[in-house]
Amino acid sequence: MVKPEDRFKGKGIRKCKLCGSVRGLIRYHYIYMCRRCFREVAPDLGFKKYG
Ligand SMILES: [Zn+2]
Repeated sequence: MVKPEDRFKGKGIRKCKLCGSVRGLIRYHYIYMCRRCFREVAPDLGFKKYG
């Protein structure tokens, strides 16, 4: 369960924004994503090759 206050507290927490994973994170601008999710959204972001 995610409490509303935890969302604000978690400013320094690095966590995949899409799936919540903390492993294999990539920072894209100010958004953290795991590699797996990044690869899924990469085409939408304009990346065609990664890893
Ligand atoms: Zn993810």
